[in-house]
Amino acid sequence: MKTNYQVSRRGFIKTGAVAATALMLGNAINALGAQKKMGVALVGLGYYSGGQLAPALLQTKNCYLAGIVTGTPQKAADWSKKYNIPQKNIYNYQNFGEIAKNPDIDIVYIVLPVSMHKEFTIRAAQAGKHVICEKPMALNAAECREMIAACKKANRLLSIGYRLHFEPHTKEVMRLGQKKVMGKVTQIDTGNGFTYGGDPNAWRLKKALAGGGGLMDMGIYSIQGSRYTLGEEPIAVKATQEKTKPELFKEVDETVFWELKFPSGAKVTGKSSYNNNWGYLHVTTENGNFELEPAFGYGGLDGKVNGKPMNIPNINQQAAQMDDFATCVALNKPSRVPGEEGLKDMKVVDAIYRSLDSGKWENI
Ligand code: NAD
Repeated sequence: MKTNYQVSRRGFIKTGAVAATALMLGNAINALGAQKKMGVALVGLGYYSGGQLAPALLQTKNCYLAGIVTGTPQKAADWSKKYNIPQKNIYNYQNFGEIAKNPDIDIVYIVLPVSMHKEFTIRAAQAGKHVICEKPMALNAAECREMIAACKKANRLLSIGYRLHFEPHTKEVMRLGQKKVMGKVTQIDTGNGFTYGGDPNAWRLKKALAGGGGLMDMGIYSIQGSRYTLGEEPIAVKATQEKTKPELFKEVDETVFWELKFPSGAKVTGKSSYNNNWGYLHVTTENGNFELEPAFGYGGLDGKVNGKPMNIPNINQQAAQMDDFATCVALNKPSRVPGEEGLKDMKVVDAIYRSLDSGKWENI
């Protein structure tokens, strides 16, 4: 039992800490001078930049859309008009390095096909900019290590576009699982995927550009969901796959199934697909169960604990994610989702592909 004194004392300490942080943040951002918000440049103006990130940057408090990098002059003109971006803050892939001289840009956000993530993350860090790189972080774990090393060498912060770490249902799942609120987690079943109906020539279906298919693009959320529910790193994996549309998925995986071994012994299964609409995270514990479904999208998550609704409001995940990184930059503190977090997922992805080749359990 806590005494009233203890409760109020703890409340006081918490309030004091929040106030001190707010003061520090205010000072750090004001220390930039007239520019109070961090300037973000989006690299690659496709579906995710146009549909989610740019609109979210109209809602952020600590950062704003300051610049764009695009290979398409018409997009440059359209975005400049729509988002009021001055000509001096617009770059293409060739003159991108000149961004080094632009004080309006603090953060470069890489939203390109996966095969371009490494090159542009490294070029951005070398240009003196802090970097957010979209998921999956790169083609493989070796590339992730190079990106982390380059950002360290340039003394720049690197973050991965893992928006769910800022999302309240996901944070509740992390709390329930990692703090063993309902006892130890004994089992996790998770799947993520969508039925691909897009352009059969798109980069997502080309191995050289995407690295892989549903596993890299969608399965990464399920892999990470298992990791953040348990707060542990998996040690081995066994995977199988299914291809019902080999003409469409000539170069990349369609549906992949896996089993992960974790140190605590929890039984963890996962699946990913470009040919099934999945998006769930089901967790069994010693004393009950909890789940998210939808678990990984940004159209609104929903959750239950022992069958009862979590009743947690949804937020703009991308705005929360980018505001957090702007704060990290202002305070020079590592992101909650640094490059190392992207590397952990890519090590699992690499091991799943090894297991698909070998047909055996593979160490991670
Ligand atoms: P997209 O195809 O819609 O956009 C990619 C952009 O890259 C386009 O503007 C395209 O012109 C440009 N590009 C430059 N060089 C290219 C090349 N050689 N080939 C093809 N395109 C080229 O893709 P997207 O859906 O916006 O995905 C971009 C990144 O964002 C991917 O890493 C993806 O996984 C990630 N993403 C993340 C989320 C999320 O929820 N975090 C959601 C969607 C996409």
